[in-house]
Amino acid sequence: MTAADSRTALAIEGGRPVRDAMLPYGHQVIDDDDVAAVVGALRSEWLTTGPLVDRFERALAERVGARHVVAVSSGTAALHAAAAVVGMGSGTAAVVPALTFSASANCFRYVGAEVRFADVRADTLTIDPADVEAVIDERVKAIVAVDYAGQPADLAELRDLAERRGAMLIEDAAHAIGATYRGRPVGSIAHLTTFSFHPVKQMTTGEGGAVATDDEALADRLRAFRNHGITTDARERQVRGTWWYDLVELGFNYRLTDLQSALGISQLRKLDGWLARRAEIAGRYDREFGRLGEVETPTIAEGRTSAWHLYVIRFRLDRLRADRELLFRALRAEGIGVNVHYIPVTHLSHYRAIAQPRPLPVTDREYERALTLPLWAGMSDADADDVVQAVTKVVRAYRSPP
Ligand SMILES: *Cc1c(COP(=O)(O)O)cnc(C)c1O
Repeated sequence: MTAADSRTALAIEGGRPVRDAMLPYGHQVIDDDDVAAVVGALRSEWLTTGPLVDRFERALAERVGARHVVAVSSGTAALHAAAAVVGMGSGTAAVVPALTFSASANCFRYVGAEVRFADVRADTLTIDPADVEAVIDERVKAIVAVDYAGQPADLAELRDLAERRGAMLIEDAAHAIGATYRGRPVGSIAHLTTFSFHPVKQMTTGEGGAVATDDEALADRLRAFRNHGITTDARERQVRGTWWYDLVELGFNYRLTDLQSALGISQLRKLDGWLARRAEIAGRYDREFGRLGEVETPTIAEGRTSAWHLYVIRFRLDRLRADRELLFRALRAEGIGVNVHYIPVTHLSHYRAIAQPRPLPVTDREYERALTLPLWAGMSDADADDVVQAVTKVVRAYRSPP
């Protein structure tokens, strides 16, 4: 191998990798303020069900433009709670995009509802309102909009459609805290919007989630649902000096602790700076990869901003001598922690066994050519350089001859 060969030779074929240490596709950012906030909570009177939970909820409500926010123990718990409080159960159905994390569908199964899968739009990869129309009927009580990769779905069309058909719009905004739709923040548009604070998302509480809504009755039911279905919490009873409570419907222990809320309050203060950094890196990727004819960069629809949870490229496989699997392995060998979002939920055994088979051509086709590149607020410019260099190197090596 000559010196030039060893620089351009792919790591998967024995060449030198772009990086030695793997760059993850997503990662939390924790600073000294976050550590101090959690330690402060640990030394306080309330480790859970305390005042920091309320404070976190109020700060979130203000940031996402909702009247009420109910904090819960995960994004999955948030979706489960949303499904329960809108009255989903056996005999009802939810329409869910297949290109999502399985939790978006699982939560409707938890309450005994049927899940009907809809296809996604080819440009934005968010649920296609026309395909929702194709599967909706009087049993459908929820349309689930997933803000794929951080971009809001067609929220106005979907909310109109839901209201015309007697359903609720539940927005799974696990990817999209801080995104906007026609100038309004995600969290202020759907009947219920759910968020996740898993470490890979834009801000974290370790595990955690929240539901935002303007509907006070739904907010009350959400508060009961996360606390076994009980009407008051321990602190309220202590403050009122009473032992009495009632259990109005079956709930779960889905509470977020004060330790987690302290971290959430501290993280939320930094969210806007982190969103700007994510957008900056995404903009750089757009410019660099826009020059490669073998790669399509993400499309953001008119009137929306993305919170850039994920940066997903799509390969033009007809111009390459490699499939996505080989491209994935080649980039991993270069030290780039690429990933795939998502295996369509309809391909997973549980759903294959229970869901009505229905063609989802866009989902199946786009899944085969999609790859997630590293994107998180703590990435350095040098890390982004490595991603650009590695993708360019791998694409050039597998470019089809003209
Ligand atoms: C992360 C995620 C969830 C679940 O959130 P957890 O906090 O991990 O339970 C739900 N839906 C989507 C689309 C997600 O990406």
